[in-house]
Amino acid sequence: MRQIDISQVAKLPTLYGIFNIQAFKEADKEHLAIYTENLSDNPIVRVHSECLTGDALGSKKCDCGEQLIYAQQLIAKEGGMIIYHRQEGRNIGLVGKVNAYALQDKGLDTVEANHQLGFKADERTYEIVEYILNYFGLTKIQLLTNNPTKIESLTNIDITRRVPIVMDANPYNRAYLQVKKEQMGHLL
Ligand SMILES: [Zn+2]
Repeated sequence: MRQIDISQVAKLPTLYGIFNIQAFKEADKEHLAIYTENLSDNPIVRVHSECLTGDALGSKKCDCGEQLIYAQQLIAKEGGMIIYHRQEGRNIGLVGKVNAYALQDKGLDTVEANHQLGFKADERTYEIVEYILNYFGLTKIQLLTNNPTKIESLTNIDITRRVPIVMDANPYNRAYLQVKKEQMGHLL
């Protein structure tokens, strides 16, 4: 792991609760840990992959924005941490993602579109996530996810429980969620 620059801790009041926030810079990517004051030794953790279109623009092509709000609400109440993992578009970046969306407009599904662009269905890596969990001394967590790959990818962390995060489908993301379930093994 390369040199990681770590910010001070600051308060972040949000629409959904009050958190602490700390930034971690890894090469050209900056990630966030957003966490509550009462962090247990086996907290609920959401590893949220950056999705600018879903998180900031309210895109209905995926369920990311709704999942992020749900995670903030749940963790504000129960205690825990969100790691905001800056690997946009399953780590194909915004140019890759918008190109994939253009192919989806022509009828390809999310996996086919990634493959046509020369990417794997999922290009994410999780070393920085383990680094951040280690930094907070967290060796066991309850992971808020539907994605078994995330559980398998955190090889050095004891996942004591999976907490589901299932959102209602809408007409624009129904097919996408179906592909996530049938081709990417998500537990929906
Ligand atoms: Zn998304």
